[in-house]
Amino acid sequence: MVSQSVVFILCCAVLCCPVWSSPFLRPTKMLRSSMAAVMRAVVVREFGGVKKMKVETDMPAPSVGDHEVLIKVHASGINPVDTYIREGMYASLPELPYVPGKDGAGVVEALGAKVTKFKLGDRVFCSINGRYGTLASLTSAPETRVFPLGENLSFEDGASIGIPYFTACRALILKAKAKKGERLLVHGASGGVGLAAVQMGRELGLHVVGTAGTDEGISLVKATGAHEVFNHRDPKYLKNLGTEKFDIILEMLANVNLDKDLTLMNPRGRTIVVGSRGPTQINPRNLMMSESSVTGVALGTSTEEEWAELAAHVVAGTESGWVKPPVHKVYSLEEASQAHHDIIHSKGAQGNLVVRVTE
Ligand code: NAP
Repeated sequence: MVSQSVVFILCCAVLCCPVWSSPFLRPTKMLRSSMAAVMRAVVVREFGGVKKMKVETDMPAPSVGDHEVLIKVHASGINPVDTYIREGMYASLPELPYVPGKDGAGVVEALGAKVTKFKLGDRVFCSINGRYGTLASLTSAPETRVFPLGENLSFEDGASIGIPYFTACRALILKAKAKKGERLLVHGASGGVGLAAVQMGRELGLHVVGTAGTDEGISLVKATGAHEVFNHRDPKYLKNLGTEKFDIILEMLANVNLDKDLTLMNPRGRTIVVGSRGPTQINPRNLMMSESSVTGVALGTSTEEEWAELAAHVVAGTESGWVKPPVHKVYSLEEASQAHHDIIHSKGAQGNLVVRVTE
């Protein structure tokens, strides 16, 4: 248990910092290693390109509220949304300066007074919002966004679960209401969300067809469980898909594919738009005879009840073994900006990109 004087020093260190002025609330329980008032972190002081990401060694550690968990971060998962936020091109932006990174995995270092789900030393993964992200040796998270990480998964695996699996789950279960035996097209299956959707689709008993843009991506999507995989860069791939249509389409690049998707749906088919990087034109007539629909998905709009439902599916998947994130590349903290560059300028996705934060 930390002494009063250490807590006093921690509070002073944080309160005296003019930029990071959030009070360091005293958690009820702490591990010795979390007593540092400062931490190593990637810090963004101005929105913009990857050069705005700087490793700093004296960032004040985040506060730990009553319902929060302080996590010693071992690995941080990189998602496209991290780059939109860093560029300042996202609907909800953190106050500057901030530490990027929504997904992460590590060990519980301290607990708020009202946390009941965890104990010190637990292995966990998290998916969070806010100024104190996971590209730092410490992050704090509401206990509702922290989940147990079994010994069967590494910290790199754990850091790759959050956004990809929760999004796939929200799209397939909450939005598409997938039913056993239905045909699923994962249009863009080689990235984080796509591979999670392939695994979840198989778990739900769907016939899973995926697309990828490279031979390596195609092999990975097949190895991950898709029944069939096609190359979305092949001009003939729509023909190659065959004549059987789809009940559900998960669309990763709607600005390129939405109009095609409308022609690929069975009666009462559902296209779920997960990703889009611009506007597009569609022919709405293609929705009429099939009475098919297009729905957007936004993980960030999930209610507390929905988070709990998504977490129940995903955590059960980590326990039973179908959640197996394919980690493509691991970067050091100093290379975090390279990871941000690589996820957006990918020549062909092959699973998740992860930053190793602490050993
Ligand atoms: P990622 O790991 O970077 O993967 C991108 C995927 O898009 C790859 O499979 C890529 O395939 C594929 N792609 C590229 N060109 C394509 C094309 N012409 N047709 C179909 N697919 C194509 O990204 P991610 O994490 O999977 O996320 C995918 C998208 O969803 C991103 O735009 C992301 O911002 C968005 N997203 C939205 C939510 C939400 O709540 N709505 C949540 C998470 C992610 P190849 O590289 O093999 O060509």
